[in-house]
Amino acid sequence: MSDLRELYQEVILDHNKKPRNCGRLETANRMAEGFNPLCGDRITLYLKMNGDVIEDVSFEGKGCAISTASASLMTSAIKGKTIPEAETLFDSFHGLVTGHDCPVDAVTHIGKLAVFGGVREFPARVKCATLAWHTLKSALEGKIDAVTTE
Ligand code: ZN
Repeated sequence: MSDLRELYQEVILDHNKKPRNCGRLETANRMAEGFNPLCGDRITLYLKMNGDVIEDVSFEGKGCAISTASASLMTSAIKGKTIPEAETLFDSFHGLVTGHDCPVDAVTHIGKLAVFGGVREFPARVKCATLAWHTLKSALEGKIDAVTTE
């Protein structure tokens, strides 16, 4: 388990250092902003929707390692997915990090996102890990108001 933990930490540190899909997406047709006042994490999420499909996605943000790595991994995970697929991922991820209602197959289902499983032991960090996801939900729903995790 400790090896696994180290591996997980490596993934998070790597994504924090070299965030994927980072920067403004000029072709975006949806965007949303998220803010986690507890930690000070901020994120702007850009989506390029083609019908039901998330054709492209990027984010800009300023926050802690967990929030940045989470946004980086999330954008990698949802690119090319449909809205229902992204919503299923949201539910699995949320279940994983909160420890509630975690589907048995969640870990295989969400792949690399499983690195955030350890976050549930740190309730204050759950909001860092889920910020990007709440922002995604807001962007998919087409809301223009900024979301906060409060
Ligand atoms: Zn944070």
